[in-house]
Amino acid sequence: MESVCVFCGSSSGVSPVYRDAARSLGHYLAKEGIRLVYGGASVGLMGELADAALESGAQITGVIPSFFSRKEIAHKGLTELHFVDSMHERKLKMAALSGGFIALPGGYGTMDEFFEMLTWTQLDLHQKPVGLLNTNGYFDLLIRFFDHMTGEGFVRDAHRQALLCADNAEELLEMMNKYQPLRLEKWLKRIKET
Ligand code: AMP
Repeated sequence: MESVCVFCGSSSGVSPVYRDAARSLGHYLAKEGIRLVYGGASVGLMGELADAALESGAQITGVIPSFFSRKEIAHKGLTELHFVDSMHERKLKMAALSGGFIALPGGYGTMDEFFEMLTWTQLDLHQKPVGLLNTNGYFDLLIRFFDHMTGEGFVRDAHRQALLCADNAEELLEMMNKYQPLRLEKWLKRIKET
């Protein structure tokens, strides 16, 4: 992957482990020569991630809605910063510019962005890997819920397996690099057969 989009909190969380994880991911992307695409803010985990990636020499593309730039405080040091007109445009642009998606711990905004990319996987609107970086077990309950959704028949096994989860950046990136896109034709055929 030449570029990865990272979704994460505009807050930093209570424990310093979240900041450390965002910074580690930033350093790791830089070390691997992977361009970081993210929401362009300088606050919370978003800021930590971007600062660390910049310190290690990464190329970074920020995508931020114009109306947000004051509130979220657009990062000043990025390689490039795109201003867009809406949250929808932001997500579309971040998706178009990236070879894969990672969610770090965050709040509703992070979840919204992560879920949209996951549902686009399911609909075959993109064929890029989606990963959860499960720092400090932050997503344990969500992962259990995904298994529950699958067990109860609301999420297909293939779609559950398409979501990649790891507790460190190196392992997650390795899984993402090996990711094989789902074949929607097979999925549709299975639906017809059941
Ligand atoms: P949060 O995880 O809530 O701290 O938000 C992280 C990122 O998600 C920030 O870049 C926010 O701009 C973005 N965000 C916040 N609210 C929304 C929303 N309703 N829809 C999409 N993105 C959002």
